Amino acid sequence: MSPAAVRPTIPVERFAERLDAAQRMVGESGLDALLVGVGPDLRYLTGYRAMPLERLTMLVVPRSGACRLVVPRLERMPAERSGAGSGGLVEIVPWDETDDAHALVASCVREAAGDHAGPNVRVAVSDTLWALHVLRLQAALTGAAFELGSRVTAPLRIVKDPDEIALLRLAAEAADRVIDQVAHGPLVGRTEHDVAAEIRDRLIAEGHDAAEFAIVASGPNSASPHHEASDRVIRPGEPIVLDIGGPLGGYGSDITRTIWVTGGHAAGPDDEFRRIFELVRDAQSEATGAARPGVSAERVDAVARGIIEAGGYGPQFIHRTGHGIGLEGHEEPYLVEGSREPLRAGMAFSIEPGIYLEGRYGVRLEDIVVCTDDGPVALNRAPLDLLVVTG
Ligand code: ZN
Ligand code: ZN
Ligand code: ZN
Repeated sequence: MSPAAVRPTIPVERFAERLDAAQRMVGESGLDALLVGVGPDLRYLTGYRAMPLERLTMLVVPRSGACRLVVPRLERMPAERSGAGSGGLVEIVPWDETDDAHALVASCVREAAGDHAGPNVRVAVSDTLWALHVLRLQAALTGAAFELGSRVTAPLRIVKDPDEIALLRLAAEAADRVIDQVAHGPLVGRTEHDVAAEIRDRLIAEGHDAAEFAIVASGPNSASPHHEASDRVIRPGEPIVLDIGGPLGGYGSDITRTIWVTGGHAAGPDDEFRRIFELVRDAQSEATGAARPGVSAERVDAVARGIIEAGGYGPQFIHRTGHGIGLEGHEEPYLVEGSREPLRAGMAFSIEPGIYLEGRYGVRLEDIVVCTDDGPVALNRAPLDLLVVTG
């Protein structure tokens, strides 16, 4: 069975719901229009996936009236085939090579603003829109106030619908299989680079759209949370932190497992390694258990941090406990002190505490967890216990 063959897609009705909700929020926020360039917000609202380019592609969500998707004429066909395009939810407005696309968008905004199309126009632009486009839009909409589009899109995207959860689950299960395959070895004698290349190939083979990252941090490198795979040769008697993932059907996987490699007369994990592994294991599972509706995001971080601090390694847990995941690998909610937002059913995030002892080794364990009315659900199923791999 090819994993891609069973991949669900987001049905057109979802894009209708999302566009309606966005339009409602544009009105409630006192904005005249939301302007969405190529990127995750555009994909969320329309299903349209395009390359970010100097040629402007822009969804215009006015406070009332039809949503328009302004596209270069040569990209009209893929835009029409997108979820919102094929469902007739947006009016496709193609522009020609010699047209001023930014002026075209500005005229859509002025039309939406109607009677107050003067200096009081307010628009929100998607957070990742290139400065190239933002500055030209500002020039075309003299005097208009510009804000970040995430004030409209983030509250929508933060709660996943069942189709999105289904894709996150498929991505998590595909990443689980890759961890299992790689943990079967052989690992000893290979470079981190070589193992990372194998992981990337396997992520694709298991159905991912792309292999976005493959951290292979062996021995002392495991003490660096975002280590780039290097030419270091893996030796028996040391740990490896594997942190891998990428999008599947647009939705990300992100899993971390720490394994111990042994072989020959090499030593197994020493006492301190076992101790920090147990602390991280406890912190990961207790924080997962705490991730219920109504609990603040910072509280989940505090649960993980409290366990590691009580074990005496607080200063060595040098990052937040987790991040939301969806169309982007890191998105809201962030599980970090100061993030008072209460968790809600449908939120999806990583729970990934770690302890890093510089010059020696580190441990991190990460699952993707969905908050539901029935409690937290871990999408990853790869075992979290310390795996000792021979060879
Ligand atoms: Zn990370
Ligand atoms: Zn990760
Ligand atoms: Zn992560």
